[in-house]
Amino acid sequence: MSLDGTYDQGNIFAKILRGEAPCARVFEDEHVFAFMDVFPQGRGHTLVIPKHSTARNLLDEEPAVLSPLILGVQRVARAVRAALQPDGLVVTQFNGAASGQTVYHLHFHIIPRWEGVALKGHGVGGMADMGELKALADQIAANIS
Ligand code: AMP
Repeated sequence: MSLDGTYDQGNIFAKILRGEAPCARVFEDEHVFAFMDVFPQGRGHTLVIPKHSTARNLLDEEPAVLSPLILGVQRVARAVRAALQPDGLVVTQFNGAASGQTVYHLHFHIIPRWEGVALKGHGVGGMADMGELKALADQIAANIS
């Protein structure tokens, strides 16, 4: 059911975009906004969302929004790599509650991985310290090119 539905302007990412909720901002341009996940599955877990969109998921999104969005995901992923030097990077995106989606504004997760370091479960990690997230956000932002 949650694959279908109406976009809720009160969702937390819409509030972040409107400046009504705090976040550790990494990057924004005309099309995309990137910020740290507050319940990170690992160090450096970053989210990238379209700024001008009412798509709840990938299936809903307009092609014209998707093109700059995926370029933004790549740009931020490269900055995460440059900043944190992980051994790998997971890029994920969930559609519908059954898949694990909890926020219904289209978004991509960028999660750095290090050999031998386990990933925390999706949506089960604790809330991160905002000061630490802001420091990570600044480190990643400094590597945006
Ligand atoms: P998903 O489960 O794919 O919909 O992902 C939503 C993500 O948003 C989860 O990884 C949450 O930890 C994250 N999240 C929820 N609220 C916030 C928030 N206020 N700021 C940053 N990340 C959030």
